[in-house]
Order: sequence, then C-alpha cells, then structure tokens
Amino acid sequence: MLPRYLELELSRHVLRNIARFRLRALTLRVETGCWQIHNRFCDKCDLHDIQDEKHVLFLCPCLEMCYLRGRFEEQFADCTGRTYIGDTGAFYFDNIGAEDVKLFFLKQTYKLFLFLSETMDTFCLAGSVQQAQQSTHLAEGLNPL
Ligand SMILES: [Zn+2]
Repeated sequence: MLPRYLELELSRHVLRNIARFRLRALTLRVETGCWQIHNRFCDKCDLHDIQDEKHVLFLCPCLEMCYLRGRFEEQFADCTGRTYIGDTGAFYFDNIGAEDVKLFFLKQTYKLFLFLSETMDTFCLAGSVQQAQQSTHLAEGLNPL
C-alpha cells in the first residue's frame, strides 16, 4: 500500500519535502540531514535543544515556527500546553509528550503535509535556497489556500 501522502494531491515540492522529512525521522540522527549539519543544537532559538523533529515541530520558540504553527493551528487542536506570543496567534509548546507527537503524525492530512513541508522550507532554506526556488517554480497541481 502506498503511503497516504502519495495518494493526496500535493505538489512535487511538498511531496519531496515530506519524503525528506520521513527519511530524516527514520534515520538515527545522522549528520547528513538538512538540519543538524553544523551541530546538533537548534540554531533558531536559545534553548540549546537538540534540533530534532519534536523540537522543530512543537518546542522551538523561534518566531518563524511560532507563526507557522499559528497558521496551521487546527493541526494542534488535540495538543495541550501552548504558550502564545502576545495575541498574534503564534505559539509554541513548553513540553509535549511522545504520545502527542505520535498522534500528530498519524493524522496524515493534506494540511499536516503542508505544515511539514513549510517546516522543511523554514529550516532547510539556508542550505538549499536555489533548489527551493527552483521547485517553487515547478510546483504544480497545488491549490492556493
Ligand atoms: Zn529551536
């Protein structure tokens, strides 16, 4: 059976980001991912957390990710413990359980995949600006939201 993300109408760019994300999630913190290239700690915030999926998706308080979470707020409807940044709608989590992370990935909705893709863009842009721009031009079949 195909992974569900291959059945949804997602742009090539989004599909590639999700594939990269899945690959990253399945490998054991290898240093070849697009994050963790320089060191294992998040370079977007001051938490000195390992920059893994959980940190990036839920805990990282950098503004870019907080605003991104705000735009995809409904994806976090089941997760408690949000800290909002003023009244902007942007938020991060102080802590998140392994179970919440698991359930989050089980959703496999169109919006969740877009969120993962934009997360990859946010964190990986520095190393692959050219590539990202190229694939934006090539994006096809994606409805504007
Ligand atoms: Zn961070």
